[in-house]
Amino acid sequence: MEHAEDGPGPQGQHAGEARWRGLFERMGEGFFVAEALRDAAGRMTDFRFVEVNPAFERLTGIPMQHALGRPVREVIPGVPDDLIRTYARVVDSGEPAEFEVHVPALNDRWYEARARALGHGQFCVLFLEITQRKAVELALVRSEARYRTLFESIDEGFCILQVLFDAAGQPHDYRFVEINPAFERHTGMAGALGRTARELIPNLELTWVHTYARVAVSGEPLRFEDHAPSMGRWFDVFAFRIGNPAEHKVALLFSDITQRKQVEQALREADARKDEFLATLAHELRNPLAPISNGLAILRHAEAGSAVGVRARELMERQLAHMVRLVDDLLDVSRVSRGKVELRKAPVALGAVVEAALETSRPLLDAAGHRLELALPAEPVLLDADATRLSQVLSNLLNNAAKYTREGGHVRLAARCLPQRRVSIAVSDNGIGIPPQMLDQVFDLFTQVGAALERSQGGLGIGLSLARRLVEMHGGHISAASDGAGRGSTFTVELPTL
Ligand code: ADP
Repeated sequence: MEHAEDGPGPQGQHAGEARWRGLFERMGEGFFVAEALRDAAGRMTDFRFVEVNPAFERLTGIPMQHALGRPVREVIPGVPDDLIRTYARVVDSGEPAEFEVHVPALNDRWYEARARALGHGQFCVLFLEITQRKAVELALVRSEARYRTLFESIDEGFCILQVLFDAAGQPHDYRFVEINPAFERHTGMAGALGRTARELIPNLELTWVHTYARVAVSGEPLRFEDHAPSMGRWFDVFAFRIGNPAEHKVALLFSDITQRKQVEQALREADARKDEFLATLAHELRNPLAPISNGLAILRHAEAGSAVGVRARELMERQLAHMVRLVDDLLDVSRVSRGKVELRKAPVALGAVVEAALETSRPLLDAAGHRLELALPAEPVLLDADATRLSQVLSNLLNNAAKYTREGGHVRLAARCLPQRRVSIAVSDNGIGIPPQMLDQVFDLFTQVGAALERSQGGLGIGLSLARRLVEMHGGHISAASDGAGRGSTFTVELPTL
Protein backbone atom coordinates (compact mmCIF):
# COMPACT_ATOMS: atom_id res chain seq x y z
CA MET A 1 0.00 0.00 0.00
CA GLU A 2 1.10 3.45 -0.96
CA HIS A 3 0.47 4.92 2.49
CA ALA A 4 2.25 2.07 4.29
CA GLU A 5 5.25 2.39 1.96
CA ASP A 6 5.33 6.14 2.60
CA GLY A 7 5.52 5.50 6.37
CA PRO A 8 8.39 6.50 8.67
CA GLY A 9 11.89 5.10 8.25
CA PRO A 10 12.89 1.42 8.65
CA GLN A 11 13.01 1.57 12.47
CA GLY A 12 9.50 2.98 12.84
CA GLN A 13 8.07 0.99 9.98
CA HIS A 14 6.29 -1.59 12.09
CA ALA A 15 4.70 0.92 14.47
CA GLY A 16 3.78 3.14 11.51
CA GLU A 17 2.16 0.28 9.67
CA ALA A 18 0.15 -0.64 12.76
CA ARG A 19 -1.02 2.96 13.06
CA TRP A 20 -2.18 3.06 9.45
CA ARG A 21 -3.89 -0.29 9.80
CA GLY A 22 -5.72 0.92 12.90
CA LEU A 23 -6.94 3.91 10.98
CA PHE A 24 -7.86 1.72 8.01
CA GLU A 25 -9.87 -0.54 10.27
CA ARG A 26 -11.64 2.12 12.27
CA MET A 27 -12.50 4.64 9.57
CA GLY A 28 -16.14 5.16 8.70
CA GLU A 29 -15.52 5.16 4.94
CA GLY A 30 -15.34 1.91 3.05
CA PHE A 31 -11.94 1.22 1.61
CA PHE A 32 -10.44 -1.45 -0.53
CA VAL A 33 -7.39 -2.16 -2.59
CA ALA A 34 -7.83 -4.21 -5.71
CA GLU A 35 -5.76 -5.39 -8.65
CA ALA A 36 -6.67 -5.64 -12.27
CA LEU A 37 -7.35 -8.97 -13.93
CA ARG A 38 -6.81 -8.82 -17.67
CA ASP A 39 -7.71 -10.98 -20.63
CA ALA A 40 -5.27 -12.21 -23.23
CA ALA A 41 -5.52 -8.89 -25.10
CA GLY A 42 -4.52 -7.05 -21.94
CA ARG A 43 -7.97 -5.59 -21.34
CA MET A 44 -9.07 -5.34 -17.73
CA THR A 45 -12.14 -7.54 -17.52
CA ASP A 46 -12.35 -7.90 -13.77
CA PHE A 47 -10.44 -7.10 -10.60
CA ARG A 48 -9.59 -8.90 -7.45
CA PHE A 49 -9.98 -7.56 -3.89
CA VAL A 50 -6.57 -7.39 -2.26
CA GLU A 51 -7.52 -5.62 0.93
CA VAL A 52 -10.86 -4.51 2.35
CA ASN A 53 -11.64 -2.74 5.60
CA PRO A 54 -14.46 -3.47 8.10
CA ALA A 55 -16.45 -0.44 6.87
CA PHE A 56 -16.47 -2.08 3.44
CA GLU A 57 -18.34 -5.02 5.00
CA ARG A 58 -20.69 -2.70 6.89
CA LEU A 59 -21.50 -0.51 3.90
CA THR A 60 -21.79 -3.20 1.23
CA GLY A 61 -23.05 -6.13 3.26
CA ILE A 62 -20.30 -8.33 1.73
CA PRO A 63 -18.35 -10.19 4.40
CA MET A 64 -14.66 -9.28 4.25
CA GLN A 65 -13.60 -12.90 4.10
CA HIS A 66 -15.94 -13.51 1.19
CA ALA A 67 -14.38 -10.69 -0.79
CA LEU A 68 -10.70 -10.99 0.01
CA GLY A 69 -8.60 -12.48 -2.76
CA ARG A 70 -11.54 -13.14 -5.06
CA PRO A 71 -12.55 -11.56 -8.39
CA VAL A 72 -15.30 -9.02 -8.07
CA ARG A 73 -17.47 -10.73 -10.71
CA GLU A 74 -17.54 -13.75 -8.46
CA VAL A 75 -18.18 -11.76 -5.30
CA ILE A 76 -20.82 -9.56 -6.90
CA PRO A 77 -22.37 -11.32 -9.88
CA GLY A 78 -24.00 -8.68 -12.07
CA VAL A 79 -21.53 -5.93 -11.26
CA PRO A 80 -22.01 -3.27 -13.98
CA ASP A 81 -19.45 -3.29 -16.82
CA ASP A 82 -19.37 0.49 -16.51
CA LEU A 83 -17.82 0.19 -13.09
CA ILE A 84 -15.12 -2.17 -14.32
CA ARG A 85 -14.38 0.21 -17.20
CA THR A 86 -14.07 3.15 -14.78
CA TYR A 87 -11.51 1.25 -12.69
CA ALA A 88 -9.68 0.16 -15.86
CA ARG A 89 -9.41 3.80 -16.89
CA VAL A 90 -8.02 4.77 -13.49
CA VAL A 91 -5.44 2.00 -13.62
CA ASP A 92 -4.45 2.63 -17.22
CA SER A 93 -4.37 6.42 -17.14
CA GLY A 94 -3.19 6.89 -13.59
CA GLU A 95 -5.86 9.64 -13.28
CA PRO A 96 -8.06 9.49 -10.16
CA ALA A 97 -11.83 9.31 -10.63
CA GLU A 98 -14.84 10.38 -8.59
CA PHE A 99 -18.20 8.85 -9.27
CA GLU A 100 -21.45 7.56 -7.83
CA VAL A 101 -22.04 3.84 -7.69
CA HIS A 102 -25.21 1.88 -7.56
CA VAL A 103 -25.12 -1.91 -8.01
CA PRO A 104 -28.71 -3.09 -8.21
CA ALA A 105 -27.55 -6.73 -8.21
CA LEU A 106 -26.00 -6.16 -4.81
CA ASN A 107 -28.38 -3.88 -2.89
CA ASP A 108 -30.47 -0.71 -3.06
CA ARG A 109 -27.73 1.52 -1.77
CA TRP A 110 -25.94 4.38 -3.41
CA TYR A 111 -22.26 5.19 -2.84
CA GLU A 112 -20.00 8.03 -3.63
CA ALA A 113 -16.55 6.70 -4.50
CA ARG A 114 -13.05 7.92 -5.31
CA ALA A 115 -10.62 5.63 -7.07
CA ARG A 116 -6.91 6.19 -7.34
CA ALA A 117 -4.22 4.14 -9.09
CA LEU A 118 -1.51 2.63 -6.90
CA GLY A 119 0.81 1.31 -9.62
CA HIS A 120 1.53 -2.30 -10.62
CA GLY A 121 -2.07 -2.73 -11.79
CA GLN A 122 -3.39 -1.94 -8.34
CA PHE A 123 -5.82 0.74 -7.27
CA CYS A 124 -7.64 1.78 -4.11
CA VAL A 125 -11.19 2.96 -3.65
CA LEU A 126 -12.56 5.07 -0.82
CA PHE A 127 -16.33 5.23 -0.65
CA LEU A 128 -19.21 6.28 1.53
CA GLU A 129 -22.89 5.63 1.46
CA ILE A 130 -25.15 8.37 0.09
CA THR A 131 -28.42 6.45 -0.17
CA GLN A 132 -30.27 9.01 1.93
CA ARG A 133 -28.94 11.98 0.05
CA LYS A 134 -29.89 10.24 -3.19
CA ALA A 135 -33.40 9.64 -1.88
CA VAL A 136 -33.74 13.34 -1.08
CA GLU A 137 -32.36 14.29 -4.49
CA LEU A 138 -34.73 11.87 -6.17
CA ALA A 139 -37.67 13.23 -4.18
CA LEU A 140 -36.64 16.71 -5.25
CA VAL A 141 -36.46 15.70 -8.89
CA ARG A 142 -39.85 14.04 -8.62
CA SER A 143 -41.39 16.98 -6.84
CA GLU A 144 -39.88 19.34 -9.37
CA ALA A 145 -41.39 17.19 -12.14
CA ARG A 146 -44.73 17.21 -10.35
CA TYR A 147 -44.73 20.99 -10.01
CA ARG A 148 -43.57 21.37 -13.58
CA THR A 149 -46.53 19.27 -14.72
CA LEU A 150 -48.87 21.37 -12.59
CA PHE A 151 -47.30 24.56 -13.89
CA GLU A 152 -47.63 23.41 -17.50
CA SER A 153 -51.08 21.95 -17.28
CA ILE A 154 -53.00 24.47 -15.18
CA ASP A 155 -55.59 26.50 -16.95
CA GLU A 156 -54.53 29.71 -15.25
CA GLY A 157 -51.72 31.81 -16.55
CA PHE A 158 -48.57 31.57 -14.47
CA CYS A 159 -45.40 33.54 -14.75
CA ILE A 160 -42.44 34.70 -12.75
CA LEU A 161 -41.34 38.22 -13.42
CA GLN A 162 -38.44 40.29 -12.27
CA VAL A 163 -39.17 43.91 -11.44
CA LEU A 164 -36.60 46.30 -12.93
CA PHE A 165 -35.56 49.42 -11.03
CA ASP A 166 -33.75 52.42 -12.50
CA ALA A 167 -30.65 54.04 -11.03
CA ALA A 168 -32.81 56.19 -8.76
CA GLY A 169 -34.43 53.06 -7.33
CA GLN A 170 -37.71 53.63 -9.16
CA PRO A 171 -39.42 50.60 -10.72
CA HIS A 172 -39.91 51.15 -14.45
CA ASP A 173 -40.57 47.76 -16.04
CA TYR A 174 -40.52 44.02 -15.42
CA ARG A 175 -39.13 41.05 -17.28
CA PHE A 176 -40.85 37.69 -17.74
CA VAL A 177 -38.37 35.06 -16.55
CA GLU A 178 -40.73 32.08 -16.59
CA ILE A 179 -44.09 31.57 -18.22
CA ASN A 180 -46.41 28.61 -18.57
CA PRO A 181 -48.19 27.52 -21.75
CA ALA A 182 -51.51 29.10 -20.66
CA PHE A 183 -49.77 32.49 -20.34
CA GLU A 184 -50.19 33.33 -24.02
CA ARG A 185 -53.89 32.50 -24.07
CA HIS A 186 -54.56 34.74 -21.07
CA THR A 187 -52.44 37.67 -22.21
CA GLY A 188 -52.51 37.37 -25.98
CA MET A 189 -48.73 37.91 -25.90
CA ALA A 190 -46.54 35.50 -27.83
CA GLY A 191 -42.81 35.12 -27.19
CA ALA A 192 -42.89 36.96 -23.86
CA LEU A 193 -40.21 34.85 -22.20
CA GLY A 194 -37.09 36.87 -21.48
CA ARG A 195 -38.66 40.12 -22.67
CA THR A 196 -39.96 43.01 -20.62
CA ALA A 197 -43.58 44.01 -20.28
CA ARG A 198 -43.02 47.43 -21.83
CA GLU A 199 -41.07 45.97 -24.73
CA LEU A 200 -44.16 43.91 -25.42
CA ILE A 201 -46.73 46.63 -24.63
CA PRO A 202 -45.04 50.03 -24.89
CA ASN A 203 -48.08 51.89 -23.53
CA LEU A 204 -48.60 49.52 -20.59
CA GLU A 205 -50.05 51.39 -17.61
CA LEU A 206 -47.35 52.08 -15.00
CA THR A 207 -49.71 50.99 -12.21
CA TRP A 208 -48.93 47.37 -13.12
CA VAL A 209 -45.20 47.98 -12.63
CA HIS A 210 -45.80 49.78 -9.34
CA THR A 211 -48.12 47.08 -8.03
CA TYR A 212 -45.60 44.29 -8.68
CA ALA A 213 -42.75 46.43 -7.35
CA ARG A 214 -44.70 46.82 -4.12
CA VAL A 215 -45.08 43.03 -3.83
CA ALA A 216 -41.39 42.51 -4.66
CA VAL A 217 -40.26 45.00 -2.03
CA SER A 218 -42.76 44.33 0.77
CA GLY A 219 -43.10 40.57 0.27
CA GLU A 220 -46.80 40.93 0.94
CA PRO A 221 -48.90 38.85 -1.44
CA LEU A 222 -51.68 40.63 -3.29
CA ARG A 223 -54.94 39.51 -4.83
CA PHE A 224 -56.75 41.89 -7.14
CA GLU A 225 -58.81 42.44 -10.26
CA ASP A 226 -57.79 45.18 -12.64
CA HIS A 227 -58.21 46.48 -16.12
CA ALA A 228 -55.32 46.85 -18.57
CA PRO A 229 -56.73 49.22 -21.20
CA SER A 230 -53.43 48.92 -23.09
CA MET A 231 -54.16 45.21 -23.56
CA GLY A 232 -57.93 45.54 -23.80
CA ARG A 233 -58.25 42.95 -21.03
CA TRP A 234 -59.30 42.51 -17.45
CA PHE A 235 -57.25 40.28 -15.13
CA ASP A 236 -57.74 38.49 -11.87
CA VAL A 237 -54.27 38.28 -10.33
CA PHE A 238 -52.64 36.66 -7.33
CA ALA A 239 -49.11 38.04 -6.96
CA PHE A 240 -46.53 36.86 -4.45
CA ARG A 241 -42.82 37.36 -3.97
CA ILE A 242 -40.67 34.38 -4.82
CA GLY A 243 -37.01 33.55 -4.18
CA ASN A 244 -34.42 35.83 -2.67
CA PRO A 245 -35.91 39.30 -1.93
CA ALA A 246 -32.89 40.96 -3.54
CA GLU A 247 -33.86 39.43 -6.89
CA HIS A 248 -37.18 41.33 -6.92
CA LYS A 249 -39.00 38.37 -8.37
CA VAL A 250 -42.76 38.08 -8.26
CA ALA A 251 -44.86 35.07 -9.25
CA LEU A 252 -48.28 35.67 -10.77
CA LEU A 253 -51.16 33.28 -10.97
CA PHE A 254 -53.72 35.00 -13.13
CA SER A 255 -56.69 34.70 -15.46
CA ASP A 256 -58.11 36.81 -18.21
CA ILE A 257 -61.57 37.73 -16.92
CA THR A 258 -62.51 40.13 -19.73
CA GLN A 259 -65.49 38.06 -20.72
CA ARG A 260 -66.84 37.89 -17.19
CA LYS A 261 -66.36 41.64 -16.81
CA GLN A 262 -68.18 42.26 -20.07
CA VAL A 263 -71.07 40.11 -18.89
CA GLU A 264 -71.12 41.97 -15.58
CA GLN A 265 -71.06 45.28 -17.39
CA ALA A 266 -73.88 44.18 -19.72
CA LEU A 267 -75.89 43.05 -16.69
CA ARG A 268 -75.32 46.37 -14.98
CA GLU A 269 -76.41 48.21 -18.09
CA ALA A 270 -79.46 46.01 -18.49
CA ASP A 271 -80.30 46.69 -14.87
CA ALA A 272 -79.97 50.43 -15.37
CA ARG A 273 -82.11 50.19 -18.50
CA LYS A 274 -84.75 48.33 -16.55
CA ASP A 275 -84.80 51.07 -13.90
CA GLU A 276 -85.17 53.67 -16.60
CA PHE A 277 -87.84 51.56 -18.22
CA LEU A 278 -89.90 51.51 -15.02
CA ALA A 279 -89.73 55.30 -14.85
CA THR A 280 -90.73 55.53 -18.52
CA LEU A 281 -93.50 53.00 -18.07
CA ALA A 282 -95.01 54.93 -15.19
CA HIS A 283 -94.69 58.12 -17.21
CA GLU A 284 -96.19 56.64 -20.38
CA LEU A 285 -99.12 55.08 -18.55
CA ARG A 286 -99.74 58.26 -16.61
CA ASN A 287 -99.66 60.54 -19.71
CA PRO A 288 -102.96 59.54 -21.34
CA LEU A 289 -104.82 59.63 -18.03
CA ALA A 290 -105.03 63.43 -17.78
CA PRO A 291 -106.59 63.92 -21.26
CA ILE A 292 -108.93 61.00 -20.61
CA SER A 293 -110.11 62.40 -17.32
CA ASN A 294 -110.48 65.87 -18.92
CA GLY A 295 -112.51 64.30 -21.69
CA LEU A 296 -114.76 62.62 -19.13
CA ALA A 297 -115.34 65.96 -17.39
CA ILE A 298 -116.27 67.56 -20.73
CA LEU A 299 -118.60 64.69 -21.61
CA ARG A 300 -120.35 65.04 -18.31
CA HIS A 301 -121.45 68.56 -19.27
CA ALA A 302 -121.62 68.38 -23.05
CA GLU A 303 -124.79 67.63 -24.86
CA ALA A 304 -124.96 64.29 -26.60
CA GLY A 305 -123.75 64.59 -30.21
CA SER A 306 -122.34 68.12 -29.73
CA ALA A 307 -119.11 69.00 -31.52
CA VAL A 308 -117.27 69.40 -28.18
CA GLY A 309 -118.49 66.01 -27.05
CA VAL A 310 -117.38 64.32 -30.29
CA ARG A 311 -113.91 65.90 -30.05
CA ALA A 312 -113.56 64.83 -26.43
CA ARG A 313 -114.58 61.29 -27.30
CA GLU A 314 -112.15 61.11 -30.22
CA LEU A 315 -109.36 62.38 -28.02
CA MET A 316 -110.16 59.80 -25.36
CA GLU A 317 -110.25 57.06 -27.99
CA ARG A 318 -106.83 58.07 -29.30
CA GLN A 319 -105.35 58.11 -25.83
CA LEU A 320 -106.91 54.79 -25.00
CA ALA A 321 -105.63 53.25 -28.24
CA HIS A 322 -102.15 54.46 -27.34
CA MET A 323 -102.41 52.84 -23.92
CA VAL A 324 -103.66 49.61 -25.43
CA ARG A 325 -100.70 49.63 -27.85
CA LEU A 326 -98.26 50.09 -24.99
CA VAL A 327 -99.75 47.30 -22.95
CA ASP A 328 -99.94 44.99 -25.97
CA ASP A 329 -96.30 45.61 -26.81
CA LEU A 330 -95.41 44.94 -23.22
CA LEU A 331 -97.27 41.64 -23.21
CA ASP A 332 -95.79 40.69 -26.57
CA VAL A 333 -92.21 41.35 -25.67
CA SER A 334 -92.41 39.20 -22.58
CA ARG A 335 -94.07 36.40 -24.53
CA VAL A 336 -91.53 36.59 -27.35
CA SER A 337 -88.60 36.58 -24.94
CA ARG A 338 -89.99 33.49 -23.25
CA GLY A 339 -90.42 31.83 -26.65
CA LYS A 340 -94.17 31.75 -26.15
CA VAL A 341 -95.04 33.30 -29.49
CA GLU A 342 -95.58 30.94 -32.41
CA LEU A 343 -95.77 32.27 -35.93
CA ARG A 344 -98.81 31.31 -37.99
CA LYS A 345 -97.07 31.28 -41.31
CA ALA A 346 -98.89 31.21 -44.62
CA PRO A 347 -98.19 32.55 -48.11
CA VAL A 348 -99.05 36.25 -48.10
CA ALA A 349 -98.54 39.14 -50.49
CA LEU A 350 -96.20 41.86 -49.34
CA GLY A 351 -98.74 44.45 -50.54
CA ALA A 352 -101.33 43.12 -48.10
CA VAL A 353 -98.89 43.24 -45.18
CA VAL A 354 -97.97 46.83 -46.01
CA GLU A 355 -101.62 47.79 -46.30
CA ALA A 356 -102.45 46.35 -42.88
CA ALA A 357 -99.50 48.19 -41.35
CA LEU A 358 -100.59 51.45 -42.92
CA GLU A 359 -104.08 51.02 -41.58
CA THR A 360 -102.64 50.95 -38.06
CA SER A 361 -100.14 53.75 -38.53
CA ARG A 362 -102.06 56.13 -40.75
CA PRO A 363 -103.77 58.01 -37.85
CA LEU A 364 -100.41 58.73 -36.23
CA LEU A 365 -98.81 59.81 -39.53
CA ASP A 366 -101.78 62.00 -40.38
CA ALA A 367 -101.97 63.53 -36.93
CA ALA A 368 -98.36 64.68 -37.34
CA GLY A 369 -99.05 65.98 -40.83
CA HIS A 370 -96.38 63.75 -42.42
CA ARG A 371 -96.28 63.09 -46.13
CA LEU A 372 -96.19 59.36 -46.82
CA GLU A 373 -94.54 57.94 -49.91
CA LEU A 374 -94.94 54.32 -50.97
CA ALA A 375 -92.74 52.49 -53.46
CA LEU A 376 -93.51 48.81 -53.92
CA PRO A 377 -92.18 46.55 -56.67
CA ALA A 378 -94.44 46.35 -59.69
CA GLU A 379 -94.63 42.55 -59.58
CA PRO A 380 -96.34 40.89 -56.60
CA VAL A 381 -93.99 39.60 -53.92
CA LEU A 382 -95.06 36.53 -51.95
CA LEU A 383 -93.82 35.82 -48.45
CA ASP A 384 -94.20 32.82 -46.20
CA ALA A 385 -95.06 34.79 -43.10
CA ASP A 386 -97.33 35.48 -40.19
CA ALA A 387 -99.14 38.44 -41.75
CA THR A 388 -100.29 39.93 -38.43
CA ARG A 389 -96.82 39.83 -36.88
CA LEU A 390 -95.14 41.20 -39.97
CA SER A 391 -97.55 44.09 -40.32
CA GLN A 392 -96.97 44.73 -36.60
CA VAL A 393 -93.25 45.06 -37.38
CA LEU A 394 -93.85 47.49 -40.25
CA SER A 395 -96.39 49.58 -38.37
CA ASN A 396 -93.91 49.78 -35.51
CA LEU A 397 -91.33 51.24 -37.89
CA LEU A 398 -93.91 53.61 -39.41
CA ASN A 399 -95.05 54.73 -35.94
CA ASN A 400 -91.45 55.40 -34.95
CA ALA A 401 -90.89 57.37 -38.15
CA ALA A 402 -93.99 59.39 -37.29
CA LYS A 403 -92.96 59.89 -33.64
CA TYR A 404 -89.34 60.81 -34.24
CA THR A 405 -89.93 63.26 -37.06
CA ARG A 406 -91.01 66.87 -36.59
CA GLU A 407 -94.50 67.69 -37.81
CA GLY A 408 -94.93 67.91 -41.56
CA GLY A 409 -92.11 65.48 -42.23
CA HIS A 410 -91.56 62.97 -44.96
CA VAL A 411 -91.92 59.23 -44.39
CA ARG A 412 -91.19 56.70 -47.11
CA LEU A 413 -91.76 52.98 -47.33
CA ALA A 414 -89.88 51.38 -50.20
CA ALA A 415 -89.55 47.68 -51.01
CA ARG A 416 -87.37 46.07 -53.63
CA CYS A 417 -86.50 42.54 -54.60
CA LEU A 418 -82.98 41.28 -53.95
CA PRO A 419 -81.15 38.35 -55.52
CA GLN A 420 -81.59 34.88 -54.02
CA ARG A 421 -85.28 35.27 -53.31
CA ARG A 422 -85.09 38.02 -50.77
CA VAL A 423 -86.85 41.31 -50.40
CA SER A 424 -85.82 44.45 -48.55
CA ILE A 425 -88.35 46.82 -47.07
CA ALA A 426 -87.01 50.19 -45.95
CA VAL A 427 -88.88 52.69 -43.80
CA SER A 428 -87.15 56.05 -43.83
CA ASP A 429 -87.92 59.47 -42.46
CA ASN A 430 -86.33 62.92 -42.37
CA GLY A 431 -86.61 63.15 -38.60
CA ILE A 432 -84.32 63.52 -35.60
CA GLY A 433 -81.96 60.75 -36.71
CA ILE A 434 -79.86 58.42 -34.56
CA PRO A 435 -76.26 58.95 -33.39
CA PRO A 436 -73.94 56.33 -34.96
CA GLN A 437 -73.03 54.67 -31.64
CA MET A 438 -76.72 53.98 -30.95
CA LEU A 439 -77.56 52.34 -34.29
CA ASP A 440 -77.15 48.80 -32.97
CA GLN A 441 -78.34 49.52 -29.48
CA VAL A 442 -81.77 50.84 -30.41
CA PHE A 443 -82.76 47.20 -30.92
CA ASP A 444 -81.94 46.33 -27.31
CA LEU A 445 -84.83 46.03 -24.93
CA PHE A 446 -85.68 49.28 -23.10
CA THR A 447 -83.12 51.29 -25.06
CA GLN A 448 -84.14 54.80 -25.95
CA VAL A 449 -82.02 57.56 -27.32
CA GLY A 450 -81.98 60.65 -25.14
CA ALA A 451 -83.50 61.17 -21.72
CA ALA A 452 -86.75 59.29 -21.16
CA LEU A 453 -88.85 62.06 -19.72
CA GLU A 454 -88.04 64.53 -22.48
CA ARG A 455 -90.03 62.49 -24.95
CA SER A 456 -93.73 62.80 -24.88
CA GLN A 457 -95.59 59.68 -25.91
CA GLY A 458 -92.32 58.20 -27.06
CA GLY A 459 -93.03 54.67 -25.97
CA LEU A 460 -91.30 52.13 -23.80
CA GLY A 461 -88.22 51.23 -25.78
CA ILE A 462 -89.54 47.80 -26.65
CA GLY A 463 -90.92 48.26 -30.15
CA LEU A 464 -87.67 47.72 -32.02
CA SER A 465 -86.57 44.85 -29.79
CA LEU A 466 -89.87 43.17 -30.57
CA ALA A 467 -89.51 43.97 -34.27
CA ARG A 468 -86.04 42.44 -34.39
CA ARG A 469 -87.14 39.23 -32.71
CA LEU A 470 -90.17 38.86 -34.97
CA VAL A 471 -88.10 39.51 -38.11
CA GLU A 472 -85.51 36.97 -37.00
CA MET A 473 -88.22 34.43 -36.33
CA HIS A 474 -89.10 34.88 -40.01
CA GLY A 475 -85.52 34.12 -41.04
CA GLY A 476 -84.90 37.78 -41.76
CA HIS A 477 -82.74 40.60 -40.57
CA ILE A 478 -83.35 44.20 -39.50
CA SER A 479 -80.88 47.07 -39.35
CA ALA A 480 -80.85 50.79 -38.74
CA ALA A 481 -79.00 53.50 -40.63
CA SER A 482 -78.78 57.23 -40.09
CA ASP A 483 -76.45 60.02 -41.09
CA GLY A 484 -76.61 61.22 -37.49
CA ALA A 485 -78.67 63.48 -35.29
CA GLY A 486 -81.16 65.59 -37.27
CA ARG A 487 -80.43 63.74 -40.53
CA GLY A 488 -83.30 61.22 -40.60
CA SER A 489 -83.25 57.43 -40.15
CA THR A 490 -83.81 54.36 -42.27
CA PHE A 491 -84.83 50.99 -40.89
CA THR A 492 -84.42 48.11 -43.33
CA VAL A 493 -86.05 44.71 -42.99
CA GLU A 494 -84.74 41.92 -45.19
CA LEU A 495 -86.88 38.81 -45.60
CA PRO A 496 -86.87 35.60 -47.62
CA THR A 497 -89.58 35.40 -50.29
CA LEU A 498 -91.41 32.46 -51.79
P1 ADP B 1 -89.85 53.55 -28.31
O1 ADP B 1 -91.02 52.99 -27.67
O2 ADP B 1 -89.00 54.39 -27.42
O3 ADP B 1 -90.11 54.18 -29.63
P2 ADP B 1 -88.41 51.57 -29.85
O4 ADP B 1 -87.81 50.27 -29.44
O5 ADP B 1 -89.41 51.52 -30.94
O6 ADP B 1 -88.97 52.25 -28.55
O7 ADP B 1 -87.25 52.52 -30.30
C1 ADP B 1 -86.12 52.63 -29.47
C2 ADP B 1 -85.47 53.98 -29.61
O8 ADP B 1 -84.91 54.11 -30.89
C3 ADP B 1 -86.44 55.14 -29.52
O9 ADP B 1 -86.68 55.51 -28.19
C4 ADP B 1 -85.73 56.21 -30.28
O10 ADP B 1 -84.79 56.83 -29.43
C5 ADP B 1 -84.98 55.45 -31.34
N1 ADP B 1 -85.69 55.45 -32.62
C6 ADP B 1 -86.49 54.49 -33.13
N2 ADP B 1 -86.96 54.82 -34.35
C7 ADP B 1 -86.43 56.02 -34.65
C8 ADP B 1 -86.52 56.89 -35.78
N3 ADP B 1 -87.26 56.61 -36.85
N4 ADP B 1 -85.82 58.05 -35.74
C9 ADP B 1 -85.06 58.36 -34.65
N5 ADP B 1 -84.94 57.57 -33.57
C10 ADP B 1 -85.62 56.42 -33.55
